[in-house]
Amino acid sequence: MWNISWRDHLWQNLKQPWDVIVVGGGITGAGVLRLAVACGLKTLLLEAGDFSFGTSSRSSKLVHGGFRYLFNRQFDVTQESVRERQWMLKAAPHLVNPLAFMLPNFACYSIPTHMLGIGLVIYDLMGHTLKNHRLSPQRMRWEYPALNREGVLAGFRYYDASVDDSRLVLRILREAVAAGGTALSYARVERVLRNAAGAVCGVAVQDTSEPGNRSAEVQAKVIVNAAGPWSDDLRQQVGGKKRLRKLRGSHLVFPQAKFPLQEALTLFHPRDRRAMFMIPWEGVTIVGTTDTDHEPALERDSAEPFVSREEVEYLMEAVSFLLPGLRLQHTDVISSFAGLRPVIAGGAENPSKESRAHCLWQESGLITITGGKLTTFRVMAHQTVEAILTAVGGGKPPSKRSAVFDRLPPLPQSPLEHATLNYLRGRYGSETQALLDAAQPGELERIDCLPNLWAELRWAARAEGVQHLDDLLLRRVRLGVLLPEGARARLARIRAIVQSELGWSDERWQQEEHRYHEKWNKAYSPQPLT
Ligand code: FAD
Repeated sequence: MWNISWRDHLWQNLKQPWDVIVVGGGITGAGVLRLAVACGLKTLLLEAGDFSFGTSSRSSKLVHGGFRYLFNRQFDVTQESVRERQWMLKAAPHLVNPLAFMLPNFACYSIPTHMLGIGLVIYDLMGHTLKNHRLSPQRMRWEYPALNREGVLAGFRYYDASVDDSRLVLRILREAVAAGGTALSYARVERVLRNAAGAVCGVAVQDTSEPGNRSAEVQAKVIVNAAGPWSDDLRQQVGGKKRLRKLRGSHLVFPQAKFPLQEALTLFHPRDRRAMFMIPWEGVTIVGTTDTDHEPALERDSAEPFVSREEVEYLMEAVSFLLPGLRLQHTDVISSFAGLRPVIAGGAENPSKESRAHCLWQESGLITITGGKLTTFRVMAHQTVEAILTAVGGGKPPSKRSAVFDRLPPLPQSPLEHATLNYLRGRYGSETQALLDAAQPGELERIDCLPNLWAELRWAARAEGVQHLDDLLLRRVRLGVLLPEGARARLARIRAIVQSELGWSDERWQQEEHRYHEKWNKAYSPQPLT
């Protein structure tokens, strides 16, 4: 799947009649593709950049109910998300992993400790568990010697889950394609096509890969707009009014050697009491997020959102408040990343008070599904496929039990530890054995102190539709975020593994390195540009 000739083959066969075209290859589009294929619909997904290029590779990596939404009285969103978290833990083991959270309560929060306790009991009960427990201030100080000692009232340990967001999208997409779906990256939908009655009946698509001079008009019975924060662009072509508020959320990444964490920490920022997290993830610690309106001018200047100087200060302030004993400085940060939330504008003055619920709109036959969260993608996909089936005039709707993830294969025969094999099975599902078989000597070793193996790079280059070095290093195997300076020190070995798999000349490699460094400096470096 997705080898070197994959794109040419697909472009040659694009102009056939489709039942459904899905615009957007983030988690929402991937989920819709998966369920539409399960319903027997001939479905094509088109993504303007790399798969998961948008928000779905820039989240906080949590599969969670969103405890903080309870404080905003968004009970239905929390309940739905908790239910989906429980489902994902079962349906996608080793990709979605349980994660413990510690929430210390400080006097300066002015939140009665018993209220936090009651909130967490409600949160637990929504998932039919009762696992959270309270820790005394003494216990908190013992477990966290670097913790702020002023006014600690108590701590609560509760449970959510984490994921590699980009790998989640890839796994769903690849299993959908294996089941008969079609997905094409670097294929931007420029406009929707309409029939004589004004109803949407197809799309004009442009190849955005390089040299990328192909374009086509493709017809389908139904067009689904799953373009995340950019969904308004297509809606406006059919007369829809702007409904989305793009809210930027930024993160800083620290090496675990400097910022070691066994479990995630939840805090309320000392400046504005916004809920934030510090999350151990894939060998690093992520601190985030912010929540701020993304100015249109910024989008004109840079294709990718990036952390601002103010956001860096805000995030560093949170770290110094919670864990002053670690004495962390901005110079300890190894990378950053920022994403845009597709939030339905509700007019709230404070961005964090806007609801995270999703919406489905139908305008001149264009079905738009947006808002929501990574965690709730299945609910969004179900609702969309029901709307598709109504539009095409029937078909069996997907049941709640319809497979979204294929079953994991048994543990492969391999000298690797079970933990490593499970890590691979979670990410690569039934392709795990093929990945192991492709590995050359030395490639089953881990990359530095990360959970990743060198073999993952070869596999991604060979079979996962990589078009650019940034696809490989920022979304398939995320060394650009996990290692200092975007993994600059490892590029020679990476090149030795992947260049021939990608079929790139030396000149192309140089161009790709240049492009990658430029992108990294702009949107992933610890140094903000503003
Ligand atoms: P996207 O992932 O943005 O996908 C849309 C895709 O459409 C993009 O890849 C884009 O390139 C493509 N596209 C746009 N226009 C076109 C076009 N014309 N033609 C073709 N393709 C097009 N949720 C959680 O559950 N847990 C979290 O921890 C979490 N943390 C978050 C932290 C931050 C900072 C942010 C911003 C969001 C977070 N979320 C989280 C929310 C979650 O990440 C998003 O709701 C989700 O990723 C949105 O997915 P999507 O597929 O709708 O949009």
